[in-house]
This record gives sequence, C-alpha cells and structure tokens, in this order.
Amino acid sequence: MTIKTRVAPSPTGFVHLWFLRTALFDYLFAKKNKWIFMVRIEDTDQGRFVEWSIEAIIKMFERTGIMPDEWPSPYQDLWNWPYIQSERLDIYKKYIDKLIEEGSAYYCFCSAERLTEVRQQQTELKLPTKYDEFCRNIPLEDAKKRVENWEKYVVRLKIPKWEKLVFHDLVKWKVEFMTSEIEDTVLLKSDGFPTYHGAVIIDDFLMKVTHVFRWEEWLPSMPKQILTARALWIELPYYAHLPNVLWIDRKKLSKRTGDVAVENYLKKWYLVEALINYLAFLGWNPKTTEEFFTLDKLVERFDIADVHKAWAVFDVEKLNWMNAKYIQKTEINELYTKLVAYLKEYESDFYADVFVRHSREYNLAILKELQTRLIKFDDFIGLTWYFYKEAKLRLDLLINEKMWITWLDFAKNSLQIALDILNETKVLELDNLKNSFIEKIKSNSLKNWQVLRPVRVALSWEEFSPWAFELIMIFWIDESIQRIKKVIEHI
Ligand code: GLU
Repeated sequence: MTIKTRVAPSPTGFVHLWFLRTALFDYLFAKKNKWIFMVRIEDTDQGRFVEWSIEAIIKMFERTGIMPDEWPSPYQDLWNWPYIQSERLDIYKKYIDKLIEEGSAYYCFCSAERLTEVRQQQTELKLPTKYDEFCRNIPLEDAKKRVENWEKYVVRLKIPKWEKLVFHDLVKWKVEFMTSEIEDTVLLKSDGFPTYHGAVIIDDFLMKVTHVFRWEEWLPSMPKQILTARALWIELPYYAHLPNVLWIDRKKLSKRTGDVAVENYLKKWYLVEALINYLAFLGWNPKTTEEFFTLDKLVERFDIADVHKAWAVFDVEKLNWMNAKYIQKTEINELYTKLVAYLKEYESDFYADVFVRHSREYNLAILKELQTRLIKFDDFIGLTWYFYKEAKLRLDLLINEKMWITWLDFAKNSLQIALDILNETKVLELDNLKNSFIEKIKSNSLKNWQVLRPVRVALSWEEFSPWAFELIMIFWIDESIQRIKKVIEHI
C-alpha cells in the first residue's frame, strides 16, 4: 500500500504559521519513507473564500521548499484529479445522493428562521443547542417531491443515538465520544456545495490518503467524520492531531493575538531554514540536545512517536535567536545572495538607489562585519545606514566622561592623531593599522579608547557600532579621512 499524507488548507486569507507547521509534519512523515505528500484546497465555504489565498498557499510551499508531490500547482501537470474541492461538486453529490437512497441521510427543509427559533427555545430551557430532527422522518418520496418543486433544502446525516465511539489517534491515543452530543450533521448545503464534513471524508477516500496530520482543533469533528465514513462504507485514514500552539504569554496562537501570517515572517526575511527548524520543534522533540536541523536532517530524524500531546509554546525570541545562529552559519557569499534577494523584493528603493551604487566588496565587507550581530534581514538597513548615508554630526556623542573625554578639544586632538596616521598610511592592512595607532597613542600618553572612541563616533555617529579599526577597514582610507576631517572642521 502506498502511504499518502495530505494537508487541506481552506483559502480564507493569509497562510497561517500554524498551517506551515502542520504541512511540515505531514511532509516529514511522508518524505522519510519516500511516501507521497499531497495538498488539497478546501474551498467549499464560498462565503469565506479569498481568491489570492490559493496563490499564497502555493507560494508558501515554493518558498519554504516543503514541496508536495501532488497539488494544484499551475506548474505541475500531475492532474490525477482536481485538487480543488469546488471543481469536484459532482463527485460529492453522487456520494451524498447514495446516502439519501440508503436512508443514512435525509433532506432537511427547515428555514434559517425556524432553526434560530429552535435554538432560542433550547437556550431558554438550558438544553444543549442542536437540530431537533424535525425533517428526519419525512418519507423519502415526499421529500423528493418537495425537492422537485424547488423547495430549498440541505442534506443531513442521521446520527445514531447513544452510541459510544472509540477512536485511536496517533498522537492523542484513545479518544471517546458519545453520539448523543452530536446533531444531525449537514453534509450538503443549500448552495449545492458540500460542507467540510461532507467533502473531507469522500476526498480522503478517493484520493487514497492514508495519514492525516492536522491540528488538535479538528479532534471534536472526529465523531461526525467517523459516522460519515461508516455510512459511506469507507475506511478512514489514520489521524495525528497535532498539539496546539500558544504564544509565550499563554494566549492561543490565533489571528487576533499576533503575527501569525507566514508571509510576514518571510517578509522580515527570517531564513527559511531557521523558520522550518524552529517550527519543527513546536510539538516534536527528537530527544537530543542538538537544536539545529536542516530539512533533510528533519526528514531523517522525524518520528511520530516523538510528537507531544501537550501544547507547544511559540516564542519569537527563540526564533530570533535561531535565525541569528543560521545567519552566522551561512557562508558569506550565500548570505550575500540572500540579502540581495531580500532587498530587491522588500527594499527595492534602497536596493536601487543606494545598495547597487556601492561595490560588491564594500557591501560584502559590511555584511561580513554584521554577520555575528544580525538577527534578521529587515534589521539590515537600520544597522548599517551610516555606511551608506552621510551622517548628521552629533558632537555630544564625542564626549564621554567615563573615558575622560570631557571636552570637545580633547576629542579633536584624538581625531587629529587618527588623521595623521591615516594620511601616512599607504597600504591599508589591519595589523599595521592597529600598530600605528597603538604606538602613536602611547607616544601621546593617552589611553587607547581616548582616541579610538572619538574615531569610531566620527565614522558612524552611532552610540553603538563596530570598532574603529573595523570601520576604517570598511570605509577604507579616503572615506575615513574625509569623515574625520569634517568633524575636526566642525569642532
Ligand atoms: N480545511 C480544513 C482546514 O482548513 C482542513 C481540516 C483537515 O485537515 O481535515 O484546516
């Protein structure tokens, strides 16, 4: 038997970070054994349908490298069947009609007003609110006549009374449900579209899905799905309900509580490798102290037995930490290529007007300097602006009482020393430069930082920046001289 996992996103807006984690687990499970990973688009809720959302889903897979084997990609000619539910309406109708004929489902003609009224009465009587089965016993012949007369209807599944359903989940183990708690579920809506419950079981069966990883919130829908499958005489796939994810403040990771759109993380240019690595650990742990896993390594190590039952916590600080580590590990030319791609896509003005006007060596030297401090790419411009723009002089920054630089003329003298050294430097080389400074500082009976701090400030005009020597090595002699000269003139 071929094993096949699937995700079934609903295109209702941006792609949720949580969905990426679900897809990742499906993918890891499938790829580990060279099985199949499939994507189906569940767009039966036309009221919530957002057109660009399908494209966003496709883009997410392409960007993250979690590539499905079967999916509705416009670039893939593997069209075994439509992977989008709205293109499969005839199929659902055929199966649902069969359920009606066999007496497992029935036409329901109740109006929305009537249903609201029933609910209100139940609420007043403090009863559970559910459909009162008003149409359950209408003889099929009568019901068919009403349908022929264009009466509006939905199709409901007959839920058996007082039955205990026992279900075995790959993560949650044994789960039990009582059918008395469930109402007669709508399978087909009055607009001719199936409901989620109506379509999902039929599709998983026809598409030969064997394993479904999905989030815990779907667990309560299991009894409806078990009963739908039973009525259809089909076997259900195995399910793994993945633990929910909370924000660090223990609030649920929902659209309301914060940034949960995958696109936003890609926009801030978290490295895909870091994002995937971090998400993999939300609810899974390979029981090792090792924290860095490439996608290939995740595939190799993934084991469903290591998926937790307990809820996971999403901590953006930890993600930042991991991203910074990935930046540090990335080979500098590769990192540069990624930076260029990021700037082109998200900072196109800066890229065209500033970045490309400097040489590759210059830009690369800046990135190299930043590699140990950069957390994510969208911090790049803020951290390096002084390399690209002329700084506004802030003479107050030159004073630093702790370093006994208490008046501007003192700083001016230090800058003059630096200027003299730079003027004499013919070939710029880090060790020689350091030696020249140290000697000259000594002969002037000063402390190193009494010269190096003003130089650093004069070059960057930032309270915090790389050290003076590193700045000089990036700016090179002429630009350093020019910047220092300008300050001396201003003092
Ligand atoms: N369409 C559902 C969703 O958007 C899929 C649920 C499932 O995996 O069965 O989450």
